[in-house]
Amino acid sequence: MKISKLLIANRGEIAVRVIRACRELGIKSVAVYSDEDLTSLHVKLADEAYHIGAASPAESYLKIDNIMDAAKKAGVDAVHPGYGFLSENEAFGAACEKEGIIFVGPRKETLELAGDKMACKKIVRKAGVPVVPGSDDMVEDLEEAVKLANDIGYPVLLKSAFGGGGRGIRLANNEEQLRQEFNMAAMESKAAFGKSALYIEKFLTNIRHIEFQFVRDAYGNAAHLFERECSIQRRHQKLIEMAPSPVVDKETRAKVGEYAVLSGDAVDYLNAGTIEFVRDNDTGNFYFIEINARLQVEHPVTEFVSGVDLVKLQIALASGEELPFKQEDLVLKGAAIECRINAEDPFNDFAPSYGVVKDCRIPYGPGIRVDTYLYPGCNVSGYYDSLVAKIITWGRDFDESRRRMLNALDEFYADGITTAIPLYKAILNDQAFIDGDLSTAYLEKHKLIERLEDMNKEAIKKDRDAIASAVLVDALYEGGKSKRIGSKLWK
Ligand code: ADP
Ligand code: ADP
Ligand code: MG
Repeated sequence: MKISKLLIANRGEIAVRVIRACRELGIKSVAVYSDEDLTSLHVKLADEAYHIGAASPAESYLKIDNIMDAAKKAGVDAVHPGYGFLSENEAFGAACEKEGIIFVGPRKETLELAGDKMACKKIVRKAGVPVVPGSDDMVEDLEEAVKLANDIGYPVLLKSAFGGGGRGIRLANNEEQLRQEFNMAAMESKAAFGKSALYIEKFLTNIRHIEFQFVRDAYGNAAHLFERECSIQRRHQKLIEMAPSPVVDKETRAKVGEYAVLSGDAVDYLNAGTIEFVRDNDTGNFYFIEINARLQVEHPVTEFVSGVDLVKLQIALASGEELPFKQEDLVLKGAAIECRINAEDPFNDFAPSYGVVKDCRIPYGPGIRVDTYLYPGCNVSGYYDSLVAKIITWGRDFDESRRRMLNALDEFYADGITTAIPLYKAILNDQAFIDGDLSTAYLEKHKLIERLEDMNKEAIKKDRDAIASAVLVDALYEGGKSKRIGSKLWK
């Protein structure tokens, strides 16, 4: 069925991304917004916009009834959920189906299954995909957990069976810690995901997070679109992603890519999805950890190296079209890097930063793409995810991509919020990063945050000296009018 009008059940940069795809395809776009988002960029860019409730996500972007009302009022024939919010919510998928509206994503049964990380692991393992050693079922009580952990061997991770976004994951190095952490993990899981169910996995101490993008149509045709290296994380959350991974060669790509396709087949997946793996750096083995049944934040790096527009492809697959290519048609070209620009302060334990962005400058230039909702005067709300922009660069090789990223980071400027751009610059210039020597412990291992704090202290001191001498010079030559000088491009 051809889609002619589509509602985007999301906000921020991803809503803008989907609206752009709609415009290209000649599809009318419908935005939804909360009290907090009346002046947001996605509302300005869409053909129509509907108010769906109060600022808090529970009263707007997570409120299925309000979104369905808007969808019916607008008369849309499809809904795109973006990522986060309701994107992996089977009740939302079911509500769309009931109204005869196409959900741009997997079938509701798949959403339900993928949300149950444990059940998913079982099915995928049966299909011949290696999974991280761990419990076969949910672990309901502490004594059972202790027994299981002894069998698996410490250290172990406690994971929320219905979790996501790094929340609810806790480490236990020994039985005593397991006893301490178990109830905390269950409570955290209950608070964040409404269910306290946990499972246990072997904690692999030296790993990379490497995931594969895959697509599958309603007729069972499937392909993977190579890997993304997402090892640079803070508290299990991704900061920088890239494609390809420096440790994945052609053979590994073919082998693990096949695992991804097998996983998709095992759950009869429809649309675009991601299979996440951890790679044990000591053995080079890959283990499945979960299926993300949605578009991923970091999808643009894949778009750069594969030449495939994933959002347009999602819409095509959702309308019942066949996959327009075969695995052998896909060619990996060049290298791409993404930096997630979050409104938070790296010098204050990444505390959220929000408010009106009085002025901003979005970088551009060869090989630079910025997905953002920022514009001068826009509001960065404290109610929602802190991601305000994604800078993505492409180069013929990794180093060209890296240098373009450094240019872009230098040019990016947003007055009114704090971001981790100084940290990203330190990483992009770090020798271990340049050498591709990565693991999920990269930030701690190379003391990036500490090094950055030292650099910052030095910069502040230099800046202070510069201001002091500028004041002095101004005082001498301009009768006391002082002007701030410095090396910063903008400010
Ligand atoms: P989320 O739902 O947040 O995506 P995941 O289960 O995918 O949670 O794990 C997120 C991150 O946690 C991974 O990228 C990795 O850094 C770490 N992690 C997950 N499983 C393991 C494991 N068994 N051993 C060590 N680290 C792990
Ligand atoms: P995961 O952590 O599940 O492996 P990603 O890190 O790629 O996958 O991206 C999803 C994360 O982005 C979620 O865990 C969530 O914390 C965050 N998130 C992103 N976007 C939103 C949004 N619009 N609303 C809410 N949450 C978002
Ligand atoms: Mg994950």
